[in-house]
Amino acid sequence: MATDAGRSAGEGPDLSVVIPVYNEQDSLPVLVEELTRVLDGLEMRSEVLFVDDGSVDSSPEILRRLKKERDPRIRILTLARNSGQSTAFVAGFRAARGGIFATLDADLQNDPADIPSFIASLRDYDMVCGWRKNRRDPWLRRFSTHVSNGFRRFVLKDGFHDTACSFRVFRRECVEGLVMFDGMHRFLPTLVKTAGYRVGEVVVNHRERRYGEAKYNIRNRLFKTLADLFGVFWLRKRWIRCRIKGEE
Ligand code: UDP
Ligand code: MG
Repeated sequence: MATDAGRSAGEGPDLSVVIPVYNEQDSLPVLVEELTRVLDGLEMRSEVLFVDDGSVDSSPEILRRLKKERDPRIRILTLARNSGQSTAFVAGFRAARGGIFATLDADLQNDPADIPSFIASLRDYDMVCGWRKNRRDPWLRRFSTHVSNGFRRFVLKDGFHDTACSFRVFRRECVEGLVMFDGMHRFLPTLVKTAGYRVGEVVVNHRERRYGEAKYNIRNRLFKTLADLFGVFWLRKRWIRCRIKGEE
């Protein structure tokens, strides 16, 4: 993966928060207020990279205003067209300058107040993933995620409770050199674990969507996610794990 050439010791932020945004105009001011409070309390330099995934509401103007008036740590990356959450994450990772990445949704369902405990867990792990143990979504969403999580665990035997949760904190190395594909954001913990990193989970606070609407539903997720699952199954089977016995 291409990385930012300008990153060097002592320069730039320690933490890059990457947030995909697709039509989240009403959530953004609240999110920035919450995030600013949390980031101010961290002993780290940080940047907040909003990746605007082709929003057609007022999200772009609101982001520009928040950057100017609320928090200069904000950077705004605008994708040419709506490309999906995975693409938005990858664009963000490529532009991010920190040594640690945090990812979360823009719709206020993830609580930025969880970020410090994620960062503390990095003492033992390279990537820490959120687990929405008490998920606040309509029952059909909860049920479909429950079934798909169970099926994924059965097929991949990866042991993760909730890989559909995008709230994660990890060292940038975890995603450097990783195969990136549309849909990969749902398999990131599995892929990073397969690549040999230590991946853990923390229970996170989950909140109801306050504004706007969910972009993903069973119809637009089911078949794509199933195809991706078998793709990841294949990739794990064929992953090259060479152990060098010696060199003379
Ligand atoms: N999102 C995006 N591009 C899309 C769809 C969603 O960047 O094509 C963003 C969205 O704005 C939100 C996050 O991805 O910040 C998760 O989307 P959503 O809340 O709709 O998914 P859910 O939580 O319902 O799975
Ligand atoms: Mg959501």
